[in-house]
This record gives sequence, structure tokens and C-alpha cells, in this order.
Amino acid sequence: MQMSEQAQRVAVVTGGARGIGAAVARRLAADGLAVAVIDLRREDCAGTVDAITAAGGRALAVAADVSDSGQVGAAVETIVAELGPPAVLVNNAGVIRDNLLFKMTEDDWDTVLGVHLRGAFLMSRACQQHMVGAKWGRIINLSSSSALGNRGQANYSAAKAGMQGFTKTLAIELGQFGITANAIAPGFIATDMTAATAARIGMEFEAFQQAAASQIPVRRVGQPEDIAHVASFLASEGAGFVSGQVIYVAGGPLC
Ligand code: NAP
Repeated sequence: MQMSEQAQRVAVVTGGARGIGAAVARRLAADGLAVAVIDLRREDCAGTVDAITAAGGRALAVAADVSDSGQVGAAVETIVAELGPPAVLVNNAGVIRDNLLFKMTEDDWDTVLGVHLRGAFLMSRACQQHMVGAKWGRIINLSSSSALGNRGQANYSAAKAGMQGFTKTLAIELGQFGITANAIAPGFIATDMTAATAARIGMEFEAFQQAAASQIPVRRVGQPEDIAHVASFLASEGAGFVSGQVIYVAGGPLC
């Protein structure tokens, strides 16, 4: 049953214009939440917002660079004014700047750490005050199987491992306010991000996916909806005793 507009909880999904973020935003809207879709350009959020409203949901497009504290503050103020206080935050915005260590520039490092880690920090800090006030909240951070180490991704792997420590600390600090914090660590998910990796190494995306699938126990690559399903669970009322966890969603075990 759809909650009344008054009682409708608000979810914020960063990097929600496409890929995993778009699927998570659509899924949380289908679950009955109003969804703020944040991305670098407001117009890029239109596809996700239109899909949600066409399905009868409520959504708002908000432009912000999550690594910029001024833009994050303004975005959260807009969301509070237009939709209501955030109850669910999905820190999904991400970039890759892959290179072997000896070729990795300081800009490659700072950009990746800035969007993933600083972005998750700024967004969580801005949203938590509303969750604390409501004594209810769900923070879901996108980590990655690359947190375990991945050639050419020293920056990304450090950021995604950092997301796990960040998540566990939020769980410890915020649990007393009814707020849970968990991380989802996807394996290979078919999105523009993995398509860009295929292009960088000179492979057709289809062949790249087939090669990846052959190494995955369930013999397929993941889809954004595989991650949205787990985010839906973690955002739910019933997941209130699950906190500080890292859930690998990779079609098999990782270690
Ligand atoms: P994607 O298709 O590249 O989408 C990422 C989105 O984040 C884009 O819309 C991008 O906007 C946005 N974004 C980038 N920098 C931003 C910033 N500073 N502020 C606000 N938005 C920003 O990526 P994806 O594959 O869906 O990945 C989503 C998340 O899952 C990322 O955190 C990624 O690291 C993680 N992940 C992905 C995989 C995978 O296999 N795909 C695996 C593990 C983890 P622009 O389009 O303007 O750049």
C-alpha cells in the first residue's frame, strides 16, 4: 500500500542519473519512498525522475557535485524544502580513473577519493541530522569487490575499502538514533562504468561481459537491478537490526 504523502519517507540517491543509482532510485520509489535523484547535471536526472513519476511515484531532480560541501548543503536544503527530510541515503555517485600506480596522477587519486569518500562523508553528514531528528534512518554506501584489490585501481580500491570502514563507523555512532549504515559491494555490474573499462582495454563490451561471466559462479554478470534489490532490503523497516555490514553482491563468494 502506498503511504500517504504526509508519512512518505524520502530517499536520496546520489549518481542517480544512470546505472546502479538509477535502478536503486526506481526501486525505492516502487517501494513507496519519495526519491531525490542527485547527479552532476539536473537535466541528466530527467530519465530517472520521469520513469518514477510515470509509474506513479514522486521524485525530484537535484544537481550537485557530491565532493563540494557548498553544493551538498544546498542540495539537501532543496530536498528538505521540496520533498521532506531525508530518511534514506544511498551514497552511489562514483567515477573511475584507472591507471597502474606508476602512471597514476595526483588528479586521478584526488578525483576518485573526492567523489567516493569525501562525497559519502559530506552527504552523510548533511543528511544525518534529519535522521537523528526523526530517530530513524538508513545509510547505504556503495563499496566494490575492488576493495579487495584490483590491478590498475589503487585509487578506486582505496576509496572502496575506505567506504567499508566509514560504513562501520557510522553504524557504531548512529545506531543509538535508530539509524543503520551498511555497504553493498558489487562485483561486475553491466553499466556505463564497466563499458568504459572495456573500451579502455580495447575490448567489445559484449566480449568483456562474457569473459567476466565465465569467472563468476552464477555464470552471468550483474545488472543494476541486482544491486537495487539489496538496497531495497537494507532500506526497509525490517532491516533495522542489520548494521555495519558489507554485503558482496557478486554472483559468488569473494575473499
Ligand atoms: P555509472 O554508470 O558511471 O554512474 C555513476 C553516476 O555517478 C553517473 O551518473 C555520474 O554522473 C555520477 N557522478 C559522478 N561523479 C559525481 C559527483 N561528483 N557528484 C554527483 N554525481 C556524480 O556507475 P555505476 O556503474 O552505476 O556505479 C555506481 C556505483 O557503484 C559507483 O559508486 C561505483 O563505484 C559502484 N560500483 C559499480 C560497479 C560496476 O561493476 N558497475 C561495481 C562495483 C561498484 P556523470 O554521468 O555526469 O559522470
